[in-house]
Amino acid sequence: MSRLAHILDQLTRAGELYESLPDKALRCCACGHRCLIKEGRRGICQVRFNRDGQIRVPWGYVAALQADPIEKKPFFHLLPGSTALTFGMLGCDFHCNYCQNWLSSQAMRDPASDISIRYIREITPEQVIEAARQANASAMVSSYNEPLITSEWALAIFRLAKEAGMKCAYVSNGNLTPEVLAYLTPYLDAYKIDLKSMQDKNYRKLGGVLQNILDGIRLTHDAGLLVEVVTLVVPGFNDSNEELWETARFLTGISPDIPWHVTAFHKSYKMTDPDNTSPATLLRAAEIGREAGLRYVYAGNLPGRTGEYEDTFCPNCNRSLVQRTGYIIHSYQLGENGTCPNCGTGISGIWPGEPGQVHLEGPGRPFLV
Ligand code: SF4
Repeated sequence: MSRLAHILDQLTRAGELYESLPDKALRCCACGHRCLIKEGRRGICQVRFNRDGQIRVPWGYVAALQADPIEKKPFFHLLPGSTALTFGMLGCDFHCNYCQNWLSSQAMRDPASDISIRYIREITPEQVIEAARQANASAMVSSYNEPLITSEWALAIFRLAKEAGMKCAYVSNGNLTPEVLAYLTPYLDAYKIDLKSMQDKNYRKLGGVLQNILDGIRLTHDAGLLVEVVTLVVPGFNDSNEELWETARFLTGISPDIPWHVTAFHKSYKMTDPDNTSPATLLRAAEIGREAGLRYVYAGNLPGRTGEYEDTFCPNCNRSLVQRTGYIIHSYQLGENGTCPNCGTGISGIWPGEPGQVHLEGPGRPFLV
């Protein structure tokens, strides 16, 4: 066993998201893989395992803790201009070969990521809340690795965060189950899902199943959460007009109010062949989204190079409501409860109660806490 595995196995406790099976086997339901785990074995994510017929789950540490502009998640319809205290652990249920956070996410799956041992910092949920207070955070977000696989830990933090008046959110691949969603929903306000492709064969390469993600988007929306969807547009992987149209039509079919972020790929981890996404490709994707009927389409990762696609407009009168560059808000013109000041149309989202308090021209970058 590697040193990393030894340490992570100690930073665990009994979990809740599983079903007992005969012969001390169990079935985990924290993510769509629904691993059947025999005694002494691990799930696909490696960080959840069966000890004596009980599931052990990650607990009591973070591998990253950072105060981020909420726009970095990206959430554009959740308290714009606010700070999101963001925590992550180690491990993932996917193995995307372009992952930007692979040192954290591929822990125990790729030996090259064993140096992530350095990131481990033992902490209690109470201390995470205290860090949020110090950072003046309005939102608590689980991100960086896949939050679904560490949902018991996230829930312990979210319970306290809700008591402290914060909004809580997941930044996730969307490979969820109805059970984990029901477990989280009382404490969750918003859910960002990556819709990486509309081709199941592409999802299989990343370690997932397309239908699980499509179901995840529908389920989170039906549960009443604010759902924002991100598609990282990778040249040659998912950037054909046909596939972008299919993605946009799927989202419109659930709700034209779902914000869709098309974001630029930069060479990373094992995916170094495709070119970085050009502004022209990103604009083509964004235009398809708008033409398909989505009301809020954003182009990300190329700040200042995609024109109006960083801003929010009223879908009724086209008034510019929020102007952004990257993670910085330049102007915020929504009224109380997120209404257009020109025509009164309600804009879907979770908006600040006091529009005058929105932080304009912030630093636009994260800081460690
Ligand atoms: S979280 Fe997913 S990958 Fe991990 S053990 Fe549970 S079902 Fe398997």
